[in-house]
Amino acid sequence: MVFGKDGREIGILKRSIAVRKKILKQLTDIRPVKYVHCREKMIALTFDDGYEYTKEILEKLRHHHVKATFFMVGDWVEQEPALCRKVSEAGHEIGNHSYSHCDMTQLSRDDALVEIKRAQNLIGKITGKECTLVRFPYNKCNMALMGVVKEQGLQAIGCSFDSFDWTGIEAEMICKNVLESKKLKRGAIVLMHTNHYNTVEALDQLIPVLKRKGYQLVRVSDMLVKNRNKTDKELPVLLRVFRGEES
Ligand SMILES: [Zn+2]
Repeated sequence: MVFGKDGREIGILKRSIAVRKKILKQLTDIRPVKYVHCREKMIALTFDDGYEYTKEILEKLRHHHVKATFFMVGDWVEQEPALCRKVSEAGHEIGNHSYSHCDMTQLSRDDALVEIKRAQNLIGKITGKECTLVRFPYNKCNMALMGVVKEQGLQAIGCSFDSFDWTGIEAEMICKNVLESKKLKRGAIVLMHTNHYNTVEALDQLIPVLKRKGYQLVRVSDMLVKNRNKTDKELPVLLRVFRGEES
């Protein structure tokens, strides 16, 4: 019989690793990712929808040398193909946010697939890049939707916390909501939107403070790629992360 360093039988050890890996795989299939377990001090700013102030947000991100992730709605992409291309060419990541921004939990499986595919095709055609991430409108999803996303080879992304910029609050308040959130930590995915000018203003205050706190501001997939090769020791942490619990 072979024993590992801690005295446990190797066979049992191997089996428990396999079981944990299986659980991890299942968890990522049933829940959108809310945090990414990171060694480096990284967070991802994400901007949903596309309407109204995408151009201004793009300019602020350029000014502050920051890359972000935009979850775009297909019908906006159809209206603003040049701007969508510009976002992609500036090095930002574009994710799929459905075609018509409906509550997808109310759709049949086939209609949900149409929503995803229509946005996917539009973004792919305009940017020449394939979307790998999807965020459901209103962050509402169910097992059936997770199944659709998995079939399409996409990763569902949720958020760690909301800046509540969509409520129309002042820029100072948006900053406060992000900077004072207990959920602001490495691997966090911050939810912001493109539909209020206050978000544009908030970035001038928010980005320098986040940088001073030592955070690298990156695209969601940068965090996912950097953390693809997990060691077994980290798996229990990952399990908590993918369940949406704080690490
Ligand atoms: Zn949205």
